[in-house]
Parts: sequence; C-alpha cells; structure tokens
Amino acid sequence: MPFSLIPRGVYPSVTALEPEALAAKGVRLVLADLDNTLVPYKVPEPTPDIVAWKEALERAGIRLFLLSNSRKPHRARHFAEALGIPFQGHSGKPKRGGYFKAMERMGARPEETVMVGDQIFTDTLGANRAGVVPLLVEPIRLAGNPGRYIRYAVETPFRALGRRRPFV
Ligand SMILES: [Mg+2]
Repeated sequence: MPFSLIPRGVYPSVTALEPEALAAKGVRLVLADLDNTLVPYKVPEPTPDIVAWKEALERAGIRLFLLSNSRKPHRARHFAEALGIPFQGHSGKPKRGGYFKAMERMGARPEETVMVGDQIFTDTLGANRAGVVPLLVEPIRLAGNPGRYIRYAVETPFRALGRRRPFV
C-alpha cells in the first residue's frame, strides 16, 4: 500500500481550501482534525477565520464534522459546540471505524468526503484506509513539544510526494 501515507496536496492552512473548489469536486462533507489543524493545541474555541470558513463551507453546501483523537473528554465537545458542528472525540485515527461512523452519521459516502488534518500517520493514513480523500495542512504550531518536530521530519518525504498530487 505505497500510497496509503501520501496525501492529496499539502495546504498552508484549512482556510486555503476554498469551499467552492471543494464543492466543484463533488465534496459534501469535510472531516476535520482539531489540534494543530483548526486551532493550536490547548486553544479551546474556534478563531474568527475558522468560523468564517465553516460558514463559507455551508454556503457551498458542504458540512463540517470534527473528527478528533483528543482524549481530553471535554475538548472536542466544547470546540464543536462553540463552532456549531457535530463531532466525534477519541476517534481512534488511523483506524477506519471513526471515519465510517462519522460518514454514516452525516449520510455521506467516502467519494464525497475529504479529511483535512496535519498528521500523516493518523489523519492521512486513516483517510486513505477509509477511502476518503486525505488533505494535509501544515501544523499551525510545532513549538511546545519536541516530539512534534521529530514526527514532522519523519513525515517529510510523504509531504513532498503529496505536494505533487493536489486535490484542489
Ligand atoms: Mg492534529
């Protein structure tokens, strides 16, 4: 499965993903990672640019769903409720189950669903396993945890390959 770790494009941030461009590709559901994708670790509430992006997605007929691996019991719930979107915490990415449950809840098929996240070995791998288009974003902030730099370095070849095959 050489392609299972390769994303469909690497984007500077989620807001670089234009809702109209996604809709033109047949996307109806965006599954989004939380930490370092929508906001940095520990930031509890959506920022104005994320609120605006979610509203633009809705105008394009696309729903946003928070698919988080956070084990902090209230983090995903609080963030999702503040943004007004459905969520699933402790999702077990890169296992496929969380992706399937989310799509079932939202009534969407894999071919009309994308996953946007900052990590190859959870977000991208799980999306590829579930048949969902994996979109990778640059992590918002690597500082604060040396492990994040190491993981980012290990991910580098997969990012490079992903840059050559953008989805939008
Ligand atoms: Mg993340």
